[in-house]
Amino acid sequence: MTKAGEVIFDDYHFFNDVCQYVDQAAAFTNHDKGLLEQIKACNSVYHLQFPIKKGNSFEIIHAWRVQHSHHMLPTKGGIRYSDIVNEDEVMALAALMTYKCAIVNVPFGGAKGGIKINPRNYTAAELENITRRYTVELIKKNFIGPGIDVPAPDYGTGEREMSWIADTYLTMNPGSLDALGCVTGKPIALHGIAGRREATGRGVAYAVRECVSVAEDMKALGLTAGINGKRIIVQGLGNVGFHAAKFLSEEGGIIVGICEFDGAIYNVNGLDVNDVVKHRKETGSILGYAKATSEFKNSAEGLEQDCDILVPAALENQITMANVARIKAKIIAEGANGPTTPDAADFFIKNGGMIIPDMYANAGGVTVSYFEWLKNLSHVAFGRMDRRYDETNNLNILSMIESTTGVTLTPQQRAMIAKGPSELELVNSGLEDTMVRSYHEIREIKNVKNTGSLRTAAFVAAVDKIAVSYMNMGIWP
Ligand code: GLU
Repeated sequence: MTKAGEVIFDDYHFFNDVCQYVDQAAAFTNHDKGLLEQIKACNSVYHLQFPIKKGNSFEIIHAWRVQHSHHMLPTKGGIRYSDIVNEDEVMALAALMTYKCAIVNVPFGGAKGGIKINPRNYTAAELENITRRYTVELIKKNFIGPGIDVPAPDYGTGEREMSWIADTYLTMNPGSLDALGCVTGKPIALHGIAGRREATGRGVAYAVRECVSVAEDMKALGLTAGINGKRIIVQGLGNVGFHAAKFLSEEGGIIVGICEFDGAIYNVNGLDVNDVVKHRKETGSILGYAKATSEFKNSAEGLEQDCDILVPAALENQITMANVARIKAKIIAEGANGPTTPDAADFFIKNGGMIIPDMYANAGGVTVSYFEWLKNLSHVAFGRMDRRYDETNNLNILSMIESTTGVTLTPQQRAMIAKGPSELELVNSGLEDTMVRSYHEIREIKNVKNTGSLRTAAFVAAVDKIAVSYMNMGIWP
């Protein structure tokens, strides 16, 4: 039996779990067996090794980039830096990206990258070397490019690493107008998009809000409808967990527990997430937070405390047969990829729980990455322009239009230009719309096909869409 938090890397168990989900979903479809095999397989798996200089000696770095499915191009998915990265994990996460994109109708194939390092053990200059060298290796093998494969942030990476990737790609592709579309999750000043940083967490909050808004489903769980007053435990106070907690509490949820790698804290009356982050900044840990009524040195214990909703937003393999029976939440909203093992998920659902599956719940990140990629390729600003120019360049776009065209704008024209939504408003409304619509699509499939779980329903939706793409493309030669 796998222990909670334990990550196995000597077999393909995580990738096989994802394939098993496809097999379960396939029972509700009638696709050709061979086509299903093609859908499940990883199209390209690239394991690379390169040296870096650390002090006076050499160190070999292991890294991967996996393109799971070419049914849509480019392929898309984050790059994680973690010392437990391995081929199985990258393959599984690449596959999940394929299904995730299909669920939310983002027209990409799935991919994922990983570098097997603990970023805490490297200086910023060493991390920059590693990132740039990795990027060059990907360029050499055609594993990156705006129309080929587009990385993004993931566990252990962020805007800084995406900037290094973008700059390296730009340098190696001089004159390419679309080069900046080679990676998403860039800082706004480097052609990123407003709202990308918080998109995954915001998407998780929309997913939870949508789920708890359905009165009959909540009644079946013994809960009232609506997010207001729901008691929530969040695991992981990184980019996803922090923003999920922040937006869920803004919607009226009560964050009763927070779990981090070094322990967990709890207060039935609620924890102020911003204040906890401030405490962690000052002390280096969430532990010792004065307004928590209890704390647990063993972080896994934090997951087992009283709550309505548990949001695992850290790593895979956190809820297993070893601890699932002690989980008190009625709903698990998977902010991380693969936090619940298949057997534990079955157990949880059979015992009356509900799981909002990872491939849907955390799809907000790639949804907004798609907006960023579109913005980079279109070379046109998103959203209201007057404010953008006023804020960033201290210029007034209305006067600029008048002076370059020689036309004096009417008050109505001026009002129209000034009235459009800002980039952030556009991004957030697109994200909200995507999360709301996709939830109801999955829920409908669950009910109509009686799939038993939202995850199987989500895989049915994804496999159907991917199958249609493959059928339309045909096989060449
Ligand atoms: N790493 C994120 C994920 O797992 C984002 C991927 C992207 O934006 O391409 O969904």
